Amino acid sequence: MSRMTTKQAPRSSSGAGSPTRGAISEVSPKDKPEYGSIDHILLALDRLDLIYGYDSVPPDSLSTGEPLDGLMLTLLSQNTNDRNRDMAYESLRSHLPTWGQAARASHTELAGLIRSAGLGGTKASRMKTILDKINSDFGGCTLVSMKSWCAREVRSYLSGLPGIGPKTVACVMLFDLGLPAFPVDTHVARVSRRLGFASEHDSPEKIQLFLESAVPAERCKGGHLNMIEHGRHTCRARSPRCSLCTLPDICRYCLGLAA
Ligand code: SF4
Repeated sequence: MSRMTTKQAPRSSSGAGSPTRGAISEVSPKDKPEYGSIDHILLALDRLDLIYGYDSVPPDSLSTGEPLDGLMLTLLSQNTNDRNRDMAYESLRSHLPTWGQAARASHTELAGLIRSAGLGGTKASRMKTILDKINSDFGGCTLVSMKSWCAREVRSYLSGLPGIGPKTVACVMLFDLGLPAFPVDTHVARVSRRLGFASEHDSPEKIQLFLESAVPAERCKGGHLNMIEHGRHTCRARSPRCSLCTLPDICRYCLGLAA
């Protein structure tokens, strides 16, 4: 899951995200930071940013200005890929341009419009329940007033909505509300475990809590996007491309030290 839409190209030149190892100075064994330390994390994030650049050159905007758009987009992205999510979102918004209309639509109509994202019935039910609650709590289907809330209040409210887990909450906080958060999807979790930010058995929720406590607020968005690109193109699930990677000298998996 990424907030990047399928229309927004990654910044890595080839789309394959292939790093150029020659541009990186490897760390000598005596200077190597401890796995999972802040120095280790920042060193890895610095190198990833040289390749993908989302930290130094943030994407123009990954938000429409209405946090409810981001919440619904992220809800649709659960258990599917970005392409199917985007198809479902465009279908929904082109037929029902306002969230008020979506709230009044029948479950059958809603499920049909978002079918391409999978689990249409389940997601339609959650969507309607959430829209009804927000309509009741905020006097309309909008979360714009949440922009003045603090991080703790936002996390508490969004976490109480049905079907909304820590990753979705973090996405809305990071991309729609400008609050520090570090969503951990399958790519971020895999890269974190392999590099040694986390143990092999740590859950995505545990990794998210750790990264949110360790990564400086201003590095969260770029770091998150860079790690997703790295997981997609280089640190792939089945066959990580370690020979092309910019991080082997600080990677626990690559050095054969994984637990
Ligand atoms: S060295 Fe290999 S395992 Fe480690 S981050 Fe790079 S691609 Fe992933």
